[in-house]
Formats: sequence, C-alpha cells, structure tokens
Amino acid sequence: MGVILSTAALAIGLLPLQENFSEDLSFAPPAREVDGLLGVPMDIQSLSATLIFDLEARTKEATADLVFKVGETGYPIFDIRQNIRSATLDMKPIKPETISIFDMGPQSGTMRLLEWEIQAGAPSILQLAYDLETPDAPAARGALKREKGLFFSTNFTDLKPGRYLEQWFPSNLIYDRFAFELELQLKNAKHEHLIFTNAEVEEIGNHNWRLRWPPHTTAFSPMLVIAPKDDIEVSTKTVKLTKGQKVKVTVAQDNKSTGSLKSSHKKVAEALKDFSKTVGPWPHGNRCTVYVRNSSGSMEYDGATTTAYGAIRHEIFHSWFGRGVKPRSQNDAWWDEAWDVWFADGGRYSRMDFSKPGKAITLCGSNPWNRTTAGQSYGKGAQFFARVAHLIGEKKLRSIMSDFFQENALQTASTQEMEAFLIEKSGNSKLQALFNRYVYGQDDLSD
Ligand SMILES: [Zn+2]
Repeated sequence: MGVILSTAALAIGLLPLQENFSEDLSFAPPAREVDGLLGVPMDIQSLSATLIFDLEARTKEATADLVFKVGETGYPIFDIRQNIRSATLDMKPIKPETISIFDMGPQSGTMRLLEWEIQAGAPSILQLAYDLETPDAPAARGALKREKGLFFSTNFTDLKPGRYLEQWFPSNLIYDRFAFELELQLKNAKHEHLIFTNAEVEEIGNHNWRLRWPPHTTAFSPMLVIAPKDDIEVSTKTVKLTKGQKVKVTVAQDNKSTGSLKSSHKKVAEALKDFSKTVGPWPHGNRCTVYVRNSSGSMEYDGATTTAYGAIRHEIFHSWFGRGVKPRSQNDAWWDEAWDVWFADGGRYSRMDFSKPGKAITLCGSNPWNRTTAGQSYGKGAQFFARVAHLIGEKKLRSIMSDFFQENALQTASTQEMEAFLIEKSGNSKLQALFNRYVYGQDDLSD
C-alpha cells in the first residue's frame, strides 16, 4: 500500500520539493484512543486547495488535496469545520461519514478521525470536496454578501478552538508546518474585488489568483481578505528599516473603520521601525500586509494583520513574537501575548509589590491537545514578565528576548525552551521558581 500511495502522490505532483519539516511529528501530541481506534497525529506534507465563489449562482465550491504522513500506524487525526460532500483516499472514493467528528473537550473542541488505518511513513492523499459554508466553529463567520459583491476573511482567533485554517480547509494543530497553495476565483462579480493576503500572489486571470504560503506555514498563518474595491481604501508604501532592510507595506482600510489610511500607514511604519531596531530584523521577506477592519477584534498573521485601528502596534509586534517565532502548541501561546503586552503595549506593572508572592497561575497548561490560549496570558502574563524584569533587570530581559527571537525566527518554540534560554542567558536560576509559580501554576513556595 505504501508504495502505491507514494507513487500516487508523486504522480499528481503534490509532494513539495522543499523542506517539509519531518521533525514536526516529534512536537505532536501522543496517539490517543478514539472510539476504540488508535488516533494518531499527522504530519501534513502539503495542502493544495481551490475555492470558487460564483456571485451569480451563489455557490462557494471548495476542493482540498491533503498530502500527509503518520509517524505510527493508526487512524489520523486532523480537523476541518466544513461539511464534506465527497472524499477520496489515495484516489479511491470513501464515504464522508468515515471522516468522523469526535469531541475532545472544552479546550480542544471537536476534531476529525479518518477511520482508515494508515501505515507509518508513506505519504497518503486525502481529497475533499465541499461547499464553503459558515464554519461549524464557535462564533465563526462565513462569507458575507455586500452591496457591491462579497466580503470574506479567514478570520482566525486563538481564543476559541477550531478557529484557524481548519475553519475553511483541512488542517492540523500548530506544531505542524506545511506549504499551502490555493487557487481562488470569483466568478460573475459585477464589481471589482481586491484581495489582501500574506501569501505570494500570482494573478492568473480576472478575479483569479494563485496564492502560495511557504513551508513554515502553520494553521494560524494564512491571512486572506476579499473585499469589493469600493468598500476600501488601499495604498502601498516602502518603509526603510534598520540595516537597509526595505519592506513594502500595503494598508487596506475598510471605509467604515476609524482613523485615516494615512495615519494607519504612519502607525505601521513607526511600529516596524521600532521593533526592527529593538527586537531584530523583520522576518517576513519584503512585505507587510495590514487590513484595518471596521469592527473590534484584531488578529495577527505571519507578516500581516487584520486589526482595529487602535491595535495596530500590538498586532505588528506579533509578526516578531507569535508569528515570527511561533508558539509550538497552544499551551505555549501565552508568551507572545504576555511579551507583547509588556514590550509593545507598555504594560510594565513596575509598581507591583514584588516582595510578596502572588497567586499561582497556569498560563501554560499540560493538555497536549489544547487549542485555546489561556485568557490570563495578557495581564497576568505581562505581570510574569514584570517579575522577571524585577529579578534580572529590564535591559537584560529585553536583550535576551530579542536574542531568543533572532535564534528562533520562523521556527516554533516551546515554553520550556524559552525558560531554559532565559535561565542560561541571565545566569539566574531563580527564574525557574517564577516559571513554576506564574506560568505552570505550581502552588509551592519551597523553592
Ligand atoms: Zn495579541
């Protein structure tokens, strides 16, 4: 079976030629039993999808080809929050019901189990077809009809499970890095539409684009906004950063958002210049894409953001911490919010009473299938870094964290790696007690 599978994968040209991060499975959760079957994590090799919006027929047809491997023989676990209409596994039709939905509890929500045993090692291809509807995920939104056409946003959040790429296409937990290619088409649009994305874009026709995301993409990376041209203002400016780095900044601003396009550009440029000087080089090539939305709720993407006007600085910082160096699991997703609040938002908490121990807090949990960032990551997380700053000094903390970014840019990092790095570079082993109490929630003052 393995031989046939890999030949099939090669035959349709889905296997990426570039690095596919084979160590990803070593960061995956352990296998688990699901309804009497051995559910195993998968390593996505590549995802190739098509999406066609027909504005006249009002259809939204999607297909997705997922090439994946498993590290141990079993039944692969992944997620997609769409209603699958038809599917094939290694070119043979399978019933959509054999891609079952199972519940993993409040932190993780539901996931999918492919009820077909897959042998370890060889790549398989799962091909899905479906109508793109409002995702079956908490507070998700589908494509919206607008007077001049349609509005669509990938619309991710880390505060609810199942709200990353899996809303729209088959995807995985965030340990997994894979290249993603999407062919996107709008048919029968009466008005011009524009797209804003952090993908590399090739225009292949009128309202027809090929989008390519790089191999270090994870489920929370891809940003895509589609909007009628008349609903937005847009401009591109080149910003010069330290050491001669130049970044082309595109700001698209919803007509109903607060702030002007000019002032948004100014905020983005200031943030880029500041962080490239104080943290490290912009890690996302020569582009930065910002969509200023007409509502609250902002989200970071790799080298991009969909943001409220007031959150621009915070979201741009995430392209260094969060989507530059990326949390390896959702348990690790506290540190980019905590460090963002402390560093970029100025939440220093320097007047805290450091003489008495505070309450133990769990920011980094231990459920390997967790898909929800701890809500206390912002305030309590910034307070944790205030304690670290009090212990080792602000200047040293900033410098060590910037080194941490530079050593791990475009890679994933765990809380334990950050902890070890901080302890080693500061030479202060008392940091361990701070991590134990204010990150891992251990209520033990003996150390
Ligand atoms: Zn944030």
